[in-house]
This record gives sequence, structure tokens and C-alpha cells, in this order.
Amino acid sequence: MKKVLSFDVDQTLNVAKTPITDDIADLLIGCLRADFAICPISGQKFDQFLIQIVDCLTRRGAKPEDLKNLHLFVAQGTQYYRYDVAKKDWQQVYSYPLTDEQVEKITDAIRSAAEELGYWEEDKLQPGDEIIENRLSQVTFSALGQKAGTKEKYAWDPDHKKREQIVKRAKELAPEFDYEIGGTTSINAITPGMNKVFGMTHLMEELNVKKEDILYFGDMTQPGGNDYPVVQMGIDTITVRTHEDTAFALRGILGITGNLA
Ligand SMILES: [Mg+2]
Repeated sequence: MKKVLSFDVDQTLNVAKTPITDDIADLLIGCLRADFAICPISGQKFDQFLIQIVDCLTRRGAKPEDLKNLHLFVAQGTQYYRYDVAKKDWQQVYSYPLTDEQVEKITDAIRSAAEELGYWEEDKLQPGDEIIENRLSQVTFSALGQKAGTKEKYAWDPDHKKREQIVKRAKELAPEFDYEIGGTTSINAITPGMNKVFGMTHLMEELNVKKEDILYFGDMTQPGGNDYPVVQMGIDTITVRTHEDTAFALRGILGITGNLA
């Protein structure tokens, strides 16, 4: 019997960068109430976890007591947040940020790589948006920025070819970092080992569970994908194409036929 259900976020729980559906929210609440520890782990920042997951759960009726089983592994698990039921607020348990020098080196490498290849498309950004974002524990390249439409993002690099070229060149320019393809237009740069292995290792420590206790859901489980390190660790993994696959599997876990309502 699994104790922990851990999820990649973009494309696993939601349509990339958008809030989870009511259906996924209801299923996650069902899992929280069935006493599973629910552990989303993603390259995104804390505020995006609130917007895309937590706010949706609250809107669908999740109570503070439900949230005590929700564990947020932010920036690939280099930051961990837990809900304090008494204070009714999120507490940061740990954080492992990059140094300013590391951030600068990564930024230069990715920008140069993208520029050389003709994939630095600043003219396509919306006002106030940026291509490279410092997420404290990682630096993220988003080809069209954070605010681009989902449709444009999907169309930009559906076969990962552009990002594979950028990664190859950035690795030549700054080989001391790891570069992972994630989401629809993103590359996450991290210090080696600060990938989902780091997050899952800390998850096991913090929740006092073993690999066998965890079931992980992800859409990028192929070699080079940002969920692949979890597979390599030997954690049981379900590969999904979209959040609909995840919903299907969660229905099975909760023994639900048809809709929750
Ligand atoms: Mg994903």
C-alpha cells in the first residue's frame, strides 16, 4: 500500500501553467482525506503552487485539516513548504538557493546559446515578462516568457528539438550545471544533483517514508526529461500524457467509478 502520491505539476496535474481543473481538485481532496500524503514537485515557484493547486483545492472545499497532508516541493524540491494548521498558513521547512554567481553564469550560458541558435525571441514577450527567471534554487528559461498563451507555447517546440539544441550549447558554455527540459517551452538549469532526486530524497527524509511507499506521476519520464531522475531512483512511476490520465489513475486508487459528484 502506497502512503505517498507524488506528482509532477505541469502536464501531469494541469494544462501547463494553468490552475488544476475542478475534477483534479476533487480527486486530490479525496486522496488527502484518504490519508495519502500528497506531494506535488515541480520546477515552479511557491506562488505558482498556490495559484495552480492550493487555491483550487480551497475553492473546492478543502479545509485546513485536509491541507496538513499536502506537502509542496517547490523548485524541484530544493524548497519545501508544509501547512501549519494552527497558524492557518504555509511554513517553509527548508530552502537551498543558488549563489548570485551561479545565477549569473547560467543566465549568460543559456542566453548566449539561445541567441546563437536564433531562439532568443525577446520581441515575442508580453510587457513586463522575461525569458530567464531566477527561481532561487534554479534558473529557468521560458522561450516565450511566463505570460505567453498556452497555444503559442505548445506550438513553439512540440518535439523538444529547439530546447535540445539550446541545452547542448549551454552545456558547452557552462558545463558545471545540469539543464533539463520541462513544461512546454522551458529549460531548468540547476547545480548537478539538484533535480527531482534531491527533492525525492528530502521528501523521504521529511515524511519518514521509503521509496516503496511512494507512487509518482509524471509526463516527462523519458531519458532527458525532468521526471526521469525519479524513474532512475527506482520509485514506482506512472507516465501520463495529460492530467486526464492522472485523473483516470486517481479514480482507480480511490475506487471511484464515474464522477465524484
Ligand atoms: Mg511535466
